[in-house]
Amino acid sequence: MRLTRARIPELPGEGFFAPFPGPGGPRGTEPVAMASFAAAGDMRFADPRCAADRERFLRGAGLDPAAVRGLELSHSRNVLFPSAGEDTLALARASGGADGLVLRDRSLAASITVADCMPIWILDRGSGAFGVLHSGWRGTGILEAAVRGMEGRLGSDPSSIAVILGPAIGPCCYEVSADRAETYSSEFGAESVSRRGLSFYLDLRSANVSMADRLGVGDLLSIDSCTSCDSRLGSFRRQGGDRFTRMLAVCGMASVDLPASEARPASLVPVESSS
Ligand SMILES: [Zn+2]
Repeated sequence: MRLTRARIPELPGEGFFAPFPGPGGPRGTEPVAMASFAAAGDMRFADPRCAADRERFLRGAGLDPAAVRGLELSHSRNVLFPSAGEDTLALARASGGADGLVLRDRSLAASITVADCMPIWILDRGSGAFGVLHSGWRGTGILEAAVRGMEGRLGSDPSSIAVILGPAIGPCCYEVSADRAETYSSEFGAESVSRRGLSFYLDLRSANVSMADRLGVGDLLSIDSCTSCDSRLGSFRRQGGDRFTRMLAVCGMASVDLPASEARPASLVPVESSS
């Protein structure tokens, strides 16, 4: 697995974008990862109070809001692979909830919302399928479900899959109970939990990097920002349970007509690779 690390630069904007890592085609020919900052507003799915901010952000990212599919999240490890024209919300309800969406129709985009949980974007360059996953502590493992689902349903070879791990609450801030730390560490390895004094901290990123490597994913980009430390990002822990800002994570063609990165909407800043 080729691992690249990146950070969100200190530039003004309402969100960021990142091309998938690895041997992609010319710019503008592949879906990209996009996400909003807290300043763009609360992006809660299917909440009429958030509809105007969602639409404005999506149009700024070069997307038609009507073409963006979303999910009512349930902290599951269930990934949907809807076929053309299938209603993703009905499909999610019929399967008892879902937190990942993989599409093949590039006229559509997939979205989820996050505020401390990790957004994970995924692209299979073999089948062309793309999507986005919502991965918190309970949902860790949804990356494996997505890769296995792509193998089983689409014949994907993991080595042609590219993955982006987005900003999430980091081990600097994600204190949990000893019980939860024990459960997490037993499933995802000792490196996914750290201890400082009497306190335990989860490392969602480390768990997912190890998982991607074990699955044989070809290319991985990790955007190493902590949602609780970086005040531009929405965070349940930092902002509080009744006023946190859900960020929108979208995977789709930013605009199929854009020939070069310079033509990206100004409201989205590009992530920068770091050494
Ligand atoms: Zn932090």
